[in-house]
Amino acid sequence: MHLAVDIDGTLTRGDGSGALDPRVFEPLRAADTVVVCTGKVLPNANALCTYVGIEPNAVAETGGVTYADGRVEFHGDDEGLTGFVEEFAPDSDLGWGPSDLVNRWRETEVAVSLDHDRDEVEEVASRYGLEVLDTGYAYHVKSPDVDKGQGLVHVAETLGVDTSEFVAIGDSENDVHTFELAGVSYAVGNADDAARDAADHVTESSYARGFVEAVRRERDRR
Ligand SMILES: [Mg+2]
Repeated sequence: MHLAVDIDGTLTRGDGSGALDPRVFEPLRAADTVVVCTGKVLPNANALCTYVGIEPNAVAETGGVTYADGRVEFHGDDEGLTGFVEEFAPDSDLGWGPSDLVNRWRETEVAVSLDHDRDEVEEVASRYGLEVLDTGYAYHVKSPDVDKGQGLVHVAETLGVDTSEFVAIGDSENDVHTFELAGVSYAVGNADDAARDAADHVTESSYARGFVEAVRRERDRR
């Protein structure tokens, strides 16, 4: 089975900690291919794969960065980002504290804390030709040319697997693009409306238990 899987809200426990649920390790290790498709940065995706013990294939930064077969690639036009940060947060305070580990290794987009006003983020972003995506964990200010689906296209091509061979599993609006390309898609029980509407199936269980249920249902179906 080839999996295109989101991290936050999909492999996590749902107790507000953001922690991985250890129940996801076995199904991830058992898959033929795992492409981690996340809004987080590549170092997060790489660490996840390393510590679970699977080959690191990733769509990171919501498609701005991809990694497969040992190659990092960047996608989209992020020219407006510097202007956005200078205008929106001249003191560089995007809401994550002074060391800002959320953005420290981010290369193609900027994540703004949900404590900020979405309308205000959107207004400034639009002046720099950028788009705002709410993942439920942050406002991602990014090039409108990138999304997780386009990222999956790049990674799938590198791996020599057609996107239609993937089972996509996720929980939010930024997973809709992978759902559209995958052969079959599952929204976990806690997913937002956009993800639920786009998915072929919605699991009964939520968060990581929903992911485990989706993989089990696909195994049973095959
Ligand atoms: Mg998510």
